[in-house]
Amino acid sequence: MMCAAVAGQRGRRVALIEHAARVGEKIRISGGGRCNFTNVLAGPQHFISRQLGFTREVLSRYTPRDFTALVRRYRIAYHEKHKGQLFCDGSSQQIIDMLRAECELGRVQWLQPCVVHGVSREGSGFRLETDRGALQARRVVVATGGLPVPKIGASDYGLRLARQMDLLVVAPRPALVPLTFAAEPWKPFAGLAGVALEVRVACGAQHFDEDLLFTHRGLSGPAILQISSFWDSGDPLRLDLSPAHDLGEALRVAKVQSRQSLLNVLGQFLPRRLAQTWVEMQQLPADRRIAELADAKLKALGASLGAWSLQPTGTEGWRKAEVMRGGVDTAELHPATLEAHKVPGLHFIGEVVDVTGWLGGYNFQWAWASGHAVGMSV
Ligand SMILES: Cc1cc2nc3c(=O)[nH]c(=O)nc-3n(C[C@H](O)[C@H](O)[C@H](O)COP(=O)(O)OP(=O)(O)OC[C@H]3O[C@@H](n4cnc5c(N)ncnc54)[C@H](O)[C@@H]3O)c2cc1C
Repeated sequence: MMCAAVAGQRGRRVALIEHAARVGEKIRISGGGRCNFTNVLAGPQHFISRQLGFTREVLSRYTPRDFTALVRRYRIAYHEKHKGQLFCDGSSQQIIDMLRAECELGRVQWLQPCVVHGVSREGSGFRLETDRGALQARRVVVATGGLPVPKIGASDYGLRLARQMDLLVVAPRPALVPLTFAAEPWKPFAGLAGVALEVRVACGAQHFDEDLLFTHRGLSGPAILQISSFWDSGDPLRLDLSPAHDLGEALRVAKVQSRQSLLNVLGQFLPRRLAQTWVEMQQLPADRRIAELADAKLKALGASLGAWSLQPTGTEGWRKAEVMRGGVDTAELHPATLEAHKVPGLHFIGEVVDVTGWLGGYNFQWAWASGHAVGMSV
């Protein structure tokens, strides 16, 4: 919609083809219904891509300030929630309505619902076979998004078209997704479903300080969604369950100063259910006064909570993922126009491109910026 509106307002004749019954469904369900539509801090460092220079160039030409100015023009009230994330005060629908109104200003023609069966070169342009008949176009912009949440319209058509045109596609996989664990080793933690706490999670050289949520099958919450984008099968995760405190030291001090039980002391630093589970797993006497426990045991307990190493076995998959990692290789596209070097007139924008944002409004900013770049260039 961003691309169609910009191109239309520049006087181009644009047809927007959408196969789903409703347009902008991902916007509607985003941000808990309030759409985290951008992040004021967005920069190339918040994206995973093979060529950060490419991402930087596209992002620099349409910034969070540009999108926020558009939002203000439509008098959509918003607020900053956490680490630069901007959300609508009202509803995501306001963003969809704004983009639709921008399309109307550009006299965009809506072909919806309309399924594209094939795209082929015809002369210097393209021929599209659709269930509404054949269409000719000078340029085709592919904005089919990623594979998450298939039930609201996601499809792999953009990736298939890229491959058909001999463009390299970085293997797609779910990102910003909860992680799962083998049933047996997870058994002691399954009862913690619903427990949340702030942690530091690390995988390789990447780490995030965010909230973690225990689920029946594994871990979720912003910390896990963020790190999942950096996790490859077989990688271990490292978790510090109390990043704000040196727990070994805190337990040592408590041993000298406190008459409380081990569980009560730990409960000052961790959610009680987690503290209980942890103490049971370490076969420590939860109800004994902390003063009666050996220094070495307390030190080991602190260390285990500060450096929990665990091995996810998988993810919750496309059904639960918020974005796709991978997609059309940026090396195939011109950074100013996102046009395929090998197929003049064919452009790719948004999530179908191998640029994946962190959690926090970055993925929409990429969609707006890449859509705007192409709208300005066609
Ligand atoms: C639950 C959830 C919450 C999210 N929350 C946020 C958030 O708060 N902030 C943020 O920045 N990002 C968020 N995201 C990610 C964000 O929604 C996407 O990155 C963004 O929508 C990508 O935009 P896009 O235009 O590339 O693709 P999409 O928004 O996915 O749009 C692609 C469109 O193409 C249509 N389509 C697909 N295949 C075909 C075909 N063959 N023919 C015709 N039409 C087709 C689809 O029906 C869809 O309407 C969230 C994602 C999910 C799943």
